[in-house]
Amino acid sequence: MKTNLGEVLVNENQIKERIDELGAEISKDYEDKNLLVVGLLRGAVVFLADLVRSISTPIEFDFIAVSSYGTATKTSGVVRILKDLDEEIENRHILLVEDMVDTGLTLNYLLKNLRSRRPESLEVCAFLVKQREGQTLPFIKYAGFMIPDHYVVGYGLDYSEKYRNLPYVSVLKSEQNE
Ligand code: 5GP
Repeated sequence: MKTNLGEVLVNENQIKERIDELGAEISKDYEDKNLLVVGLLRGAVVFLADLVRSISTPIEFDFIAVSSYGTATKTSGVVRILKDLDEEIENRHILLVEDMVDTGLTLNYLLKNLRSRRPESLEVCAFLVKQREGQTLPFIKYAGFMIPDHYVVGYGLDYSEKYRNLPYVSVLKSEQNE
């Protein structure tokens, strides 16, 4: 399928400003706490790299990978762990960092899985949250941007592994959708 970039939904300046705000909020909330930031591979890597540098309290980070969209733009509905955490999280303060919450399926699965390991606390920081009608999502304490229901790429988000290195978030246009 041939693709090209459409409208820029979130630009570099907006990302930078919002990350500074989120970093300040997280630093305040986790003052005096030993925070483990858990990044969801691969999409959250770019966001996590900028976010952790805006957090002023000492943190550690770890990564987890689950199956999600594959190379298509539709969710498969099946979530499984491809790479588990290296760290034990029992009795630790965990901040799960996601690139995108769409249906919430991946997040629900991850929260259930991580909760069963008995962390001291577990919160979510999502870069993008898609607004879908009639949708009830799990509680997301820190959300970067709410976006309309389009397939987007950039700033970590891909289409067939491409576009992850764009410094902004753009709608992906496909010839089939036009
Ligand atoms: P959910 O389980 O919430 O439906 O989907 C979550 C995962 O699907 C995200 O972590 C992301 O990898 C992928 N995803 C959902 N919407 C988009 C999108 O608009 N663009 C891209 N590139 N990935 C998406």
